[in-house]
Amino acid sequence: MDISITKTSCPKEKPDSSTLGFGKIFTDHMFVMDYSREKGWHDARIVPFGNISIHPASTVLHYGSEIFEGLKAYRRADGVVQLFRPMENIRRMNASAERLCLPQIDENEAMHILKTFVSLEQDWTPSAPGTSLYLRPFMFGNDESLGVHAVHNARFMIIASPVGSYYPEGINPVKIMIEDKDVRAVRGGTGYAKCGGNYAASNRAGERAEQKGYTQVLWLDGVERRYIEEVGAMNVMFKINGEIVTPALTGSILPGITRKSCIELLKSEGYTVNERLLSIDELEAALKDGSLEEAWGCGTAAVVSPIGELAYKDEVFTVGGGKIGPVTQHLYDTLTGIQWGRIEDKFGWTETLD
Ligand SMILES: *Cc1c(COP(=O)(O)O)cnc(C)c1O
Repeated sequence: MDISITKTSCPKEKPDSSTLGFGKIFTDHMFVMDYSREKGWHDARIVPFGNISIHPASTVLHYGSEIFEGLKAYRRADGVVQLFRPMENIRRMNASAERLCLPQIDENEAMHILKTFVSLEQDWTPSAPGTSLYLRPFMFGNDESLGVHAVHNARFMIIASPVGSYYPEGINPVKIMIEDKDVRAVRGGTGYAKCGGNYAASNRAGERAEQKGYTQVLWLDGVERRYIEEVGAMNVMFKINGEIVTPALTGSILPGITRKSCIELLKSEGYTVNERLLSIDELEAALKDGSLEEAWGCGTAAVVSPIGELAYKDEVFTVGGGKIGPVTQHLYDTLTGIQWGRIEDKFGWTETLD
């Protein structure tokens, strides 16, 4: 695949690491590629970062055909920039595309695109502790007509944003509210796809939780409102009586790459990890009798995020004394160690840009 490259004539100044935040600053360039049923994917190009122009009837604006991915490029101490399990993101993007009737991208071509783009922008990968270059591939339906059908035209893009440390003041356990009214996804729906629509449906509950002083909501399944699913933009894990439990991938949960990595890492070290259904009743009982030892969220942004407080209906429970537990800390240290190249990567999870 040929990628045409048009470099910006006015490169921006790199920001100070302490001012980064999340997703507010973007690099000098972006990747763009168009799809039509007739031509397939075509016009792969890297162009200066800037606004795009789409038709007012573009499918994405009316019917929400949009999927995305999120992964990071990490700068190691030796200066080399590396990615963490990027093929997993590419495969998940194709799985999301299949669900939304958006076109597939050949895995190897997608990897070539990703690495070409990141290589060009790699100077934007910050080096301060905990910082990284966040990569946001996304795809949307782009037919110029209001007819409702699987799309015939689409666009794929990648933008990149240097992001700050998720924990500039050290890891702080978060407060989570278990949502018992709104639901995020149902089996047979789009819960397992990383699509914008899932987020649109989640915002109301997230907003209500925030008003009550909680960081995010913990979703229950959409059919019985009984089984634990996931937290906002993170999967969730619990340590109950020595057993590590995470909700099984039933179709309504996003199959997180951090989740998968936590499971593989813990199993390799001899921990018991079970992917199964976990009901709110079981969780509530474990909160009440003290057998819930640890709870944490896991996702690319925070890696692992200890849960220090869980609220359900009118009750508020403290988890692990409101402090980060040993398994959570171990996962955080090991995964971030591998990602930033401080720990040997025995799993072959990291990839340089070659
Ligand atoms: C992206 C995402 C996750 C976490 O996935 P990672 O691959 O670990 O970053 C979890 N839940 C939802 C809803 C997500 O969108």
